[in-house]
Amino acid sequence: MEQTDNFAYLLPFIFLVFGTIFLIADRWSDGSARYWGLGYVLSSFGFAFPVIGFALPFWVQAVVANALFFSAFLLYGQALLVRFKRPRLLVARLSFALVAFAVTCWFILIEENLRSQLAVGDSSLAILLAISIIAVRRSARSLIDRMLVVITSLVVIETTARVVVLLASTSADSFESLDQFLSSEYAFLMQVAASLVGFVMALTVLGSVVSDVITGHRDAAERDPLTGLFNRRGFEQALPETLGGNFPAGAVIVGDIDHFKQVNDRFGHAAGDHVIIGFAQILRANLRSVAIARFGGEEFVSFLPGIGRAEAAEMVEKARLGFAAMSWRDHGIDGTITASFGVSVTAPGDHSVHDALGRADACLYMAKNAGRNRVVTEGQRPPEGPPPLRIVS
Ligand code: GH3
Ligand code: MG
Ligand code: MG
Repeated sequence: MEQTDNFAYLLPFIFLVFGTIFLIADRWSDGSARYWGLGYVLSSFGFAFPVIGFALPFWVQAVVANALFFSAFLLYGQALLVRFKRPRLLVARLSFALVAFAVTCWFILIEENLRSQLAVGDSSLAILLAISIIAVRRSARSLIDRMLVVITSLVVIETTARVVVLLASTSADSFESLDQFLSSEYAFLMQVAASLVGFVMALTVLGSVVSDVITGHRDAAERDPLTGLFNRRGFEQALPETLGGNFPAGAVIVGDIDHFKQVNDRFGHAAGDHVIIGFAQILRANLRSVAIARFGGEEFVSFLPGIGRAEAAEMVEKARLGFAAMSWRDHGIDGTITASFGVSVTAPGDHSVHDALGRADACLYMAKNAGRNRVVTEGQRPPEGPPPLRIVS
């Protein structure tokens, strides 16, 4: 029995350590680490309770341990739903947990039937977690997210298998058979398996938390917080040539909001920020680009690999018209705001996207000089006769 006793101490300790790590790491996570952390801490107490509360009557031990495990599985499910940004299903999950817990307590207190209590308790925990897995399973994109779905599914399968084995190897009216089963080497090995699955789940959660921390830092370094687009550094990192690929042919676009200083001066900096956000949205919606970046202020740059001059000019024209058609009334701005664009394409002599970027910049300069609110494409004269220009009225 010595191995069982050592195990009884080790398992809660390991779960407590993981729970604490997740709670500490929560400040860098998407909010899910807090629920994993609380779940693991409660599971740890659940495993420890038979050791801590051995002097208490059996029914107290059973009710408390079940309450702790039900809460832990509710929290694991919550962690999954938060991570994958799915509806929390709080009422449904909480109602199911309360009913299942009540039924389990009935088998503990009224029926005093350990076999049914174990079967109902464990299968309810499996269902509780399965509800969340079903809700999130299609949202897992990255490797670590898929691993989370697989490993939590494994927890469900393992818990269900335990119930099936319990029901198959014991009989309803024989206490001896249950007693024999629970003290058997086989039951002990199943407990070890359950703990191993819990341990592997903790490692996977740890992986997801660490990946969040790294992504968070990388985003802070490479993204513009106002628009969520790349900053200059992120743009460089996202270029195919930086990523080790060939330097592909494509179009480069530079866009700059017209008379933006006036927007700030007349309507305030906060309103100006909303215009910048709106401009970023329009670019996102109209450009099929691998890299759209805010190059400081209200100037945006984009590289569209595999896109030719005419196609790029057409996409940019749509963006220009879309931006000019936007209403800013919600942000206290009356009138129309426009933007000017320069478009170039990479040429055989270019060494990097930056060569084409220089030419797109020159086109933007021409567009500004020709009266703004227009697209100038490399190799073409600025469109004659300025389009109707209705800068802030
Ligand atoms: P032009 O048509 O020639 O582009 O004129 P402009 O007034 O837009 O001139 P310019 O591009 O030089 O103006 C950039 C202005 O953008 C100056 C600065 O106050 C403002 N700006 C830069 N960053 C931000 C920002 O994050 N938020 C806001 N609201 N304004 C910004
Ligand atoms: Mg400007
Ligand atoms: Mg500018």
